[in-house]
Amino acid sequence: MSNITVTHADSGLVPVEVARTARITPHMTRVTFTGPALAGFEFRGFDQWFRLAIGVHDDDRFDNLPDRFGIGGYLKYLALPKGTRPVIRSYTVRAFRPETLEMDVDFLVHGSEGIAGPWAAAVEPGAQAAFIDQGCGWKPVPADGHLLVADESGLPGVAGILRDMPRDAVGHALIELYDAADQQELQGPEGVEVHWLERDPGTAPGTVVLPVLAGLDLPVESLYAFAVGESAVATGARRHLVRERGIPKQNVTFAGYWKLGRTAG
Ligand SMILES: Cc1cc2nc3c(=O)[nH]c(=O)nc-3n(C[C@H](O)[C@H](O)[C@H](O)COP(=O)(O)OP(=O)(O)OC[C@H]3O[C@@H](n4cnc5c(N)ncnc54)[C@H](O)[C@@H]3O)c2cc1C
Repeated sequence: MSNITVTHADSGLVPVEVARTARITPHMTRVTFTGPALAGFEFRGFDQWFRLAIGVHDDDRFDNLPDRFGIGGYLKYLALPKGTRPVIRSYTVRAFRPETLEMDVDFLVHGSEGIAGPWAAAVEPGAQAAFIDQGCGWKPVPADGHLLVADESGLPGVAGILRDMPRDAVGHALIELYDAADQQELQGPEGVEVHWLERDPGTAPGTVVLPVLAGLDLPVESLYAFAVGESAVATGARRHLVRERGIPKQNVTFAGYWKLGRTAG
């Protein structure tokens, strides 16, 4: 579930190739993409995200994909021959360097299941890919305080928001990981306190962050919140804020980035 509004950027389908990869923390691989088409990409910062086409067959084609990923684009994608059709997953721009036409994307390497996680763990420089920009989920309404809630998959988005939000912002960022070694250095405003939380790897996402959220002192008149990650993290945070704290629904942006036991798409 999500209330993120998708935007359809003019950049359309952006073909790229893998320049390099680096395991930045035990479970996070940074894939750096490059290519001349990145010159036409409009970087908006924050949690800007995109649909990424990943090659899974030797003959996968990236030149006949739709250049929008709304309903029409999705139907066009489904009509492509399966044997040459890349897999689509959603990811966040972690960093963009226009001077070198490079874009970093942090992939959680969550095991051997699925496509994108294993792909990022094994991909070699030169591999082809393509992406379609979908805009930012972060759409703050005027508020005295800010709250960010995420699991590992939402760490790239939260890191981008902290980097780009006004330096006088105040609030809290609650980030739940299953391995504390996956913490990254963040560049948030001084007034936004970052809480790194660790859950037992065998427990469901949200096990720690949701109780911490419920007990968090939020002494502000008005709040804008952004909650992303496993479905229970995003919907649980929103439910608490709206039902228990009386935060208006429009002040909470939330998105289930993945669902336990279920493949995306
Ligand atoms: C807007 C948006 C932005 C996102 N940005 C990022 C990002 O920058 N970095 C990032 O790592 N992810 C991000 N995600 C989440 C990512 O799209 C999903 O995790 C996706 O399911 C991964 O695809 P897959 O092919 O690896 O696994 P799938 O084929 O989708 O799933 C296979 C299995 O793996 C499990 N699984 C999927 N994701 C995870 C996970 N994160 N942890 C543990 N188990 C998992 C599923 O429950 C399923 O059982 C984002 C999602 C959205 C919607």
